[in-house]
Amino acid sequence: ESVIVAIDGPAGTGKSSTSKAVAAALGLSYLDTGAQYRAITWWMVSKGIDLSDPARIAAVADQPAIVSGTDPAAPTITVDGVDASGPIRTQEVSSKVSAVSAVPEVRTRITDLQREIAAAAVAGIVVEGRDIGTTVLPDADLKIFLTASAEARAARRSGELKGADLAATREALIKRDAADSSRKTSPLAKADDAIEVDTTELTLQQVIDHVIALVRS
Ligand code: C5P
Repeated sequence: ESVIVAIDGPAGTGKSSTSKAVAAALGLSYLDTGAQYRAITWWMVSKGIDLSDPARIAAVADQPAIVSGTDPAAPTITVDGVDASGPIRTQEVSSKVSAVSAVPEVRTRITDLQREIAAAAVAGIVVEGRDIGTTVLPDADLKIFLTASAEARAARRSGELKGADLAATREALIKRDAADSSRKTSPLAKADDAIEVDTTELTLQQVIDHVIALVRS
């Protein structure tokens, strides 16, 4: 039968790497919900939408067509048919995504997409994000909440960004997590029934093995 795994937590905890590897090992689909929020943010930036005005963001939230490919070996994301996988990873998008994702009309739109994708996954799916266990898929079979110290998260992220300044990366992550945790609509939060895994002292492989064991148990 179909199994649904929700993996939530702040940036830099290893959510994406863990989720992809778990999905691949278990033959499940994979959905990166942060990529969807990044994609709608990128589209709004490219259209020149005033992101300081939530009413402007809300007014156009339904317009872009956002399509996610859910193969964990090669996840894809397109906006109006255009590959967005590169542009959604820029610092500009990272710094603006929290303002866009805080708008309720954006969350409703993206949450509907996420539920459709999860319902269509025949074998099941690993869905990673901030509010999957609390809001998007509250009936998930397994909920994981990944954490790590701010130092570890910044070190991992600046390693990925090759040469990025560690202190600046740390400040940007802390600012984004604070914004994501304090918004009114479905903030970054651990579900009551989620299993918290602190990854600070663990290797990626240890985290992956631990989550796979939890899915199988
Ligand atoms: O996971 P990632 O860091 O790519 O997420 C980018 C942003 O998308 C987060 O900082 C947050 O603002 C938003 N997001 C969200 N809810 C989710 C996933 C991501 O609000 N489920």
